Amino acid sequence: MPSFEEPQTPYKVLILGGSYAGLAAAVNLVDFCHGRKNRFSIDEADNGTGKFIPVQVTIVDPRDGYYHLIGQPLALSSQKFAEAFWTKYTDLAALQTAEIRTVQGSIETVDCASKTATITTSKGPIHEAYDYLITATGLQREYPSSPRSLTREKYLAEAAENLANVRNASKGVVVIGGGAVGIEIAAEINMLHPHIPVTLVHSRTRLLSSESLPDEFAAKALEILQSNKINTVLGARVVDISEPQQTTPDEKPEYTVTLSTGSTLVASHVINAVSRFTPTAPSFLPAAICDEQGYIRIEPTLEFPNDGSVPNAGDHYAAGDVARWTGIKRAGAAMHQGHYAAKNIHQKMMSKVYGTTPEFVELAEVEPGMGLALGKTAVGYFPSMGLSSGEETREMFFQGDLGFMICWKWMQLGTPMPKAIGTDSETAAEAEAETAQL
Ligand SMILES: Cc1cc2nc3c(=O)[nH]c(=O)nc-3n(C[C@H](O)[C@H](O)[C@H](O)COP(=O)(O)OP(=O)(O)OC[C@H]3O[C@@H](n4cnc5c(N)ncnc54)[C@H](O)[C@@H]3O)c2cc1C
Repeated sequence: MPSFEEPQTPYKVLILGGSYAGLAAAVNLVDFCHGRKNRFSIDEADNGTGKFIPVQVTIVDPRDGYYHLIGQPLALSSQKFAEAFWTKYTDLAALQTAEIRTVQGSIETVDCASKTATITTSKGPIHEAYDYLITATGLQREYPSSPRSLTREKYLAEAAENLANVRNASKGVVVIGGGAVGIEIAAEINMLHPHIPVTLVHSRTRLLSSESLPDEFAAKALEILQSNKINTVLGARVVDISEPQQTTPDEKPEYTVTLSTGSTLVASHVINAVSRFTPTAPSFLPAAICDEQGYIRIEPTLEFPNDGSVPNAGDHYAAGDVARWTGIKRAGAAMHQGHYAAKNIHQKMMSKVYGTTPEFVELAEVEPGMGLALGKTAVGYFPSMGLSSGEETREMFFQGDLGFMICWKWMQLGTPMPKAIGTDSETAAEAEAETAQL
């Protein structure tokens, strides 16, 4: 007779990073372990396993809540959206279950051999043992691509300051950097504050010059910006920004922006949106696990590579922006990867507890594609769909809130975690019916 592990001791799963990839992994993993159909499953024949596995998920993040990063260009121009986009983990209904714990702190080191991690918190270091680890710490992005603050209260103060800077920019706003972030920031200011002149400066002659996307995509984005009266200056680098000139305390400061072409722009506010980011993993994981750029090398199953770089590679996963995979880094991909990491970990647990044969899912290669919000409209390019633009494209990719509710509903963050199958007389069919209503 084969002997399987007793399912009484909860499996400890440590998730580093509580954003799209980390949260998708956490909530789907609890669904799996509860034995019901998991929330990302689109398989109509899927009824879940009906088998319970005790699990204890710990999510570590320096922030005190989930931040809808995609919405950052909109949050810079709107206090209403800024308030909506940051939700404390303690206010996320889906996480309010005994099986999920959040720790506000930053991962310092991971010891793959002993399967322990050291987390720095305001109350001192925590040493956390785990059975499985999912790294979902994304990229270290600088403001304005990402907020500076780590708590909701400080973030809202930061957002109010950002908004005041835009709202009071009677001489206009100069946005530096014609990548996706700079373009979206310029477009959102233009939409929400139409009386403020906006200039977008990009060093190359083509917008989105660092993205492997078709020229038609960049040309369409430029056409839409210009049709919205956003001044676009291409092929010019910013070589100097003067100290703010202000002759009286009541007067609004004024900057002179000097370009490599010799011409100058005057503005009340300058936003440097030149993309600056660094991968987060090399600061806490062995270098051998990262590629030359610092992304975590993964197998198609999202496990760390099984090439002897680290011990217990198969118990370690990476998902989202922190992982090296094909395609442009996107929140949709991050959620998908978090889901797959959870699914594969659950397969391993099922095998240990119930003796099932694991069936692992693997990531498919991804061609570059992107949706770009341009105020009231959007432009999109995906190989399967081709180029699209207009209000329908905006509705499909972003709706009216830069995709906030799309992500929120997909992860079901506002819905309390259903009970496990078999507890309080819940059946697989009841659980499925509940899930279908969400
Ligand atoms: C301005 C902007 C607009 C974007 N627009 C779109 C869009 O329209 N569509 C789209 O699909 N994608 C968009 N993206 C990309 C998308 O936001 C990322 O692909 C997505 O955020 C990746 O999710 P993630 O969970 O992997 O990482 P992140 O969202 O970056 O989350 C990482 C988490 O890890 C935490 N963390 C960092 N370091 C540590 C540590 N040491 N210990 C513990 N936790 C840590 C962070 O605080 C954070 O909560 C945009 C990005 C930006 C910046």
